Amino acid sequence: MVALNSADMPLPQARSKEFTSLLRLSADIGRDPLLIQASSGNTSVKLDEVMWIKASGTWLADAEREEIFVPVDLKEALSAVHQNREAPVDWETQSGVRLRASIETTMHAVLPSRVVAHVHSVNTIGWAVREDGRARLNERLRGLSWCWIPYVPSGLPLAQEIQKALSGCPDANIFVLANHGLVVRGDTCGEVRRLLDFVEDRLALSPAEAPEPNYNLLSCIAGRSGWRVPDHATVHSLATDRNSRSIVAGGVLFPCQAIFSAGSAAVLPPREEVAARMQAENPERPFFLVEGCGVVVNERMTRADMEMLVGLAEVVRRIDRSAPLRYLSEAELQLVLNEDAHDYRLRAGSVHKREQAPA
Ligand SMILES: [Zn+2]
Repeated sequence: MVALNSADMPLPQARSKEFTSLLRLSADIGRDPLLIQASSGNTSVKLDEVMWIKASGTWLADAEREEIFVPVDLKEALSAVHQNREAPVDWETQSGVRLRASIETTMHAVLPSRVVAHVHSVNTIGWAVREDGRARLNERLRGLSWCWIPYVPSGLPLAQEIQKALSGCPDANIFVLANHGLVVRGDTCGEVRRLLDFVEDRLALSPAEAPEPNYNLLSCIAGRSGWRVPDHATVHSLATDRNSRSIVAGGVLFPCQAIFSAGSAAVLPPREEVAARMQAENPERPFFLVEGCGVVVNERMTRADMEMLVGLAEVVRRIDRSAPLRYLSEAELQLVLNEDAHDYRLRAGSVHKREQAPA
């Protein structure tokens, strides 16, 4: 890990119109739960030799009220990719606070555009978890300059996949990341926002209507200590909608799901005694689906975890029953849960994190 001092880097906040636009763009998309959940996603702007990128563990939604961007030496990040290593992670912000740059720093660096936005769009993910996603998107994104990026772990592997895609299609400005999300790039924040909206429009999926939750039974089940009934209506569709339930019980569709959900979802029978016993035997589980009734969550579940859970519900209620799905493999999951888990946990602000995010 290399710690760099950015004292000699230009400070753009007061001067750069584009940096101010980045703050606005980031806050806007960060507040849209269909694009960003908790600390997921990241944005950047390249100003001369410096790439300002979201710090790991910070929330895009906070962009206009907190210092969430770190200045990364662009040349240093690019030479890291060239040398087949991750970019330095610790950087100092304008106010002297040391923050960890996003795990996707190298991916932003290799994209030759001033502004880059990476989002966990639920509409995009609804396509990106399908075996036939690429073929289906050929229809939806016809006429646009886009690339399908096969699933690879975040960080350097993803940066290298993007580079490979760019070598075959240098004008591509839309990247659909299999089992992960969406990246768009452009010269200005305005251009990126318009492109993002345009792609979202093309990829829009209709969410299935789910049966009403059974709040009475859920309250009885959650009444046992350590559990509660979330008040976010959407989340219950994970258990009340048969298709959603079977999708999430089948495996893990994207890395953030692996981190906050501790693997595939556990389904409880809608019977108070059995449910209570299973809860007692699994006090560390973040949530349970109660078949046909709704969801109960661990009392320790954070706001970040809840946003992730809502995001998962929004994704799976957009996947049709007959869709051929590609779940993450055991090997991919192990990588996420072991090697990348630290960064993901920091980013997710998860209740399961073992370490505190750096100040
Ligand atoms: Zn991501």
